[in-house]
Amino acid sequence: MTPILSGIAVSPGVAAGPVAVMAPASSVPEASESIGTKDEEAAAAKAALEAVAGDLAARGATASGAAADVLLAQAMMARDPVLATKVVERIEAGVAGPRAVSDALAEFRKQLEALGGYMAERAADLDDLRDRVVARLLGLPMPGLPVRDFPYVLVASDLAPADAATLDPSRVLAIVTEEGSPTSHTAILAKALGVPAVVACRGAGALTDGITVLVDGRAGQVTVAPADVLIEAAMKAEDLRRAAAARASGPGHTADGHPVKLLVNLGTARETHAAAAADSEGVGLFRTEFLFLDRAEAPSQAEQRDVYRRVFDAFAGREVVVRTLDAGADKPLRFATQSAEPNPALGVRGLRTARRLPELLATQLAALADAASGSRADVWVMAPMVSTAGEAETFAAQAHEHGLGMAGVMVEVPAAVLRASSLAAVCDFFSLGTNDLAQYAMAADRTLGELADLLDPWQPAVLELVRMAAEAGAAANKPVGVCGESASDPLMALVLTGLGVTSLSMAPVSLPGVRAALAQYSLETCVQMAGRALSAADAAQARSAVQALARD
Ligand code: PEP
Ligand code: MG
Repeated sequence: MTPILSGIAVSPGVAAGPVAVMAPASSVPEASESIGTKDEEAAAAKAALEAVAGDLAARGATASGAAADVLLAQAMMARDPVLATKVVERIEAGVAGPRAVSDALAEFRKQLEALGGYMAERAADLDDLRDRVVARLLGLPMPGLPVRDFPYVLVASDLAPADAATLDPSRVLAIVTEEGSPTSHTAILAKALGVPAVVACRGAGALTDGITVLVDGRAGQVTVAPADVLIEAAMKAEDLRRAAAARASGPGHTADGHPVKLLVNLGTARETHAAAAADSEGVGLFRTEFLFLDRAEAPSQAEQRDVYRRVFDAFAGREVVVRTLDAGADKPLRFATQSAEPNPALGVRGLRTARRLPELLATQLAALADAASGSRADVWVMAPMVSTAGEAETFAAQAHEHGLGMAGVMVEVPAAVLRASSLAAVCDFFSLGTNDLAQYAMAADRTLGELADLLDPWQPAVLELVRMAAEAGAAANKPVGVCGESASDPLMALVLTGLGVTSLSMAPVSLPGVRAALAQYSLETCVQMAGRALSAADAAQARSAVQALARD
């Protein structure tokens, strides 16, 4: 029988191909045993540096653009004779090879960081280089995203947002992780790239390089060594599903014409082209922090203006809701985040960063205003992690002072919902971040697949918070969108509409399904569905009650 592994479906689509396992970074033993005489140890270290340099240079020669530059620069660093000398000096002083490599590169890292600017940006590349050379010396698999000259299914324990942001969707057919959750930022990035993904997949750790798997990112299933007929049938079913969903087009509305704006979520700049080509009314959430995940220093106003302008130009004539930097928790930005917080999700993240670094927010608003003034996009701006009406008022006033007319807040902290009327009175719109709203309402870490049942946006407690925020927005005549992952579930989209939400923002891949679902039901039915979900005992019952109504 064909073994099937089950996990949580996070990014729709079906793909089949050979597995490539992502090895974790090798940890350098504190005082590893020397493998031979000092001369042998030094020769092995130099050979490892050269082998890694050769590999990086070969990859650089076949890559293009920024990726090629980074790989070739890394190869040059590995071949730097000063580096080799520093490694050998340490080995001669009695330090084991892997530790000598690690320490010498740490010294280089400090020097680069001290130089600041572009050089400091490259400091992280030295960590990658260290992991590669050490892995080579210890005979371990190479860390980082696997390099293959054929498309593959990426299997990992978990991925950091920085890894997900750099993966190449033309190489990675699908993603399967053993850890992770549907609202982790890694899952969000996978979905944005349109790569099918299954997370919290038990048994994924036993998958080995080269074995063929069939990944169903809608059902959350991974079939190991499937028969060709099974792959063909799954692909065909997915094509039919997509074709059916794609029949509806244009602005979102219910069957009786109630408008619900359909927008896209945008993160990395390279998503812009595909996102702009999608049939949407604009961008409901532009996560600007994803642009700067690898930065050591804050981007300048001019650099930010240029990036924002490119996005605004791509969406000329449409709405673009830009979120100011949401640094912190699982998206640390080196220039904005304190590294030693005991509880990063409850720490200085989102708008709170402006308490310590007011200039960062001021520069971003200035860059946004500058980019907006020369563009034909309808630019709105909002702040993440707002907890009080005072924060909302200060932010909106600051944005307005910069000439940004529409200034709103993310509603993703339960306190903001409880005081939603006060918040609505001082800003121009709400955008509900149901990923964090669920995390904070249910006191469940959003990165833990193990707590997926609590983090489920179908939890009636979370829906109750959505209802309260939508009601407060409506009373103040302010738009209330949803930009969390819940907006991309077609059935949930009906419930959110019934709760009074006025726009839904999601990964482009999810738009057709949500549009088609809305077009099938009247607003009255959506209101009924919302009522059923709210009065259910738990998330599973809420979903099945709405499903039953949809079937009727
Ligand atoms: C959210 O919290 O729902 C949200 C959209 O923001 P992020 O996922 O980036 O925290
Ligand atoms: Mg959030």
